[in-house]
Amino acid sequence: MGEDLLRKEDIYDVIIIGGGAAGLAAGIYTSRARLSTILVEKLAIGGQASITDKIENYPGFIGGVSGPALVHNMGEQAKSFGMRIVSGEVTRIDCSDEGNIKRVFVNDGPEPYQCLSIIIAAGNEQRKLGVPGEKEYAGKGVSCCATCDGAFFRDLAIAIVGGGDVALEEALFLTRFAKKIYIIHRRDRPRATKILQERTSSNNKIEFIFDSVVDAIFGQVTVEGVKVRNLKTEEVRDLKVNGVFVFIGWTPSLSFVGNMVERSEDGYIVVDKEMRTSREGVFACGDCCKKNLRQIVTACGDGATAAFAAQHYVERIKGEEYI
Ligand code: NAP
Repeated sequence: MGEDLLRKEDIYDVIIIGGGAAGLAAGIYTSRARLSTILVEKLAIGGQASITDKIENYPGFIGGVSGPALVHNMGEQAKSFGMRIVSGEVTRIDCSDEGNIKRVFVNDGPEPYQCLSIIIAAGNEQRKLGVPGEKEYAGKGVSCCATCDGAFFRDLAIAIVGGGDVALEEALFLTRFAKKIYIIHRRDRPRATKILQERTSSNNKIEFIFDSVVDAIFGQVTVEGVKVRNLKTEEVRDLKVNGVFVFIGWTPSLSFVGNMVERSEDGYIVVDKEMRTSREGVFACGDCCKKNLRQIVTACGDGATAAFAAQHYVERIKGEEYI
């Protein structure tokens, strides 16, 4: 549903910012609780899960489930309960109104959407290496999405940078296409879960290069190789590859939040166990929160908890005068 079909003079019970698993789960719960709900998403609905080929640890799916299918269904489920979607980027939120009305500005527009509560589910942005060649060869061999770009590397050699779950999981996915995959990791062992370590180390297309970093990505028109530096010996060598996938983690995408709510030193939103932020009526859920385990199942749990807390908040202030 387009943004223009939603009346900005209306006051919605809840505005959810971000359409990944956390935001969609929140939307299912708030709409089903009959709170008028809109969800604002700047890209496509689904978040990180929508570029994950297969999810093996989301409960209830023996053998795994397709990430895009899972989040597509979550979106349809939320819409079936009445949640509406606005396509656009939240650029500012304003909670200064003393009458409990909060304002959400989309695409820097002058007219905000108005609401009683906000659930921030804005997720994360992929971290960049920041080395020469990374920007220049983006889309010309440098990628951060195996599902999107894997097929371009059929029978070619590629490097993956990172040692977390995403790096190893995507390496396994890319074995469908590439003939050789180097996983370049800065430490002497991966951070990823044991089952992924077992699968990658027993796959003969995959070779780990430990204690090493990529100093530069080079080529002519497209990527032709990377400069790999061993951190123990300081030896630098050229590794011939046609593609580089960067999976070195995430940072929260919260520029629109500023200091409106308490943030941790590394920028994540601090929440209590009800997913309440430091500002009344503003809740947060999913990967943008300070937490230890970032998974789809925990994002969904956070989303449900934030929705429940928002419901109680809205019901409480609706019992009071709010205009
Ligand atoms: P992550 O777990 O934070 O791992 C990032 C990796 O990149 C780490 O190995 C880190 O090295 C390395 N790294 C960070 N900055 C670097 C730099 N500047 N240069 C070189 N290497 C760098 O991130 P992720 O793998 O993207 O996973 C994100 C979250 O999603 C995690 O919580 C993960 O568990 C979850 N996830 C889970 C699954 C699953 O359970 N199946 C699947 C996908 C994602 P160090 O190890 O030295 O810190």
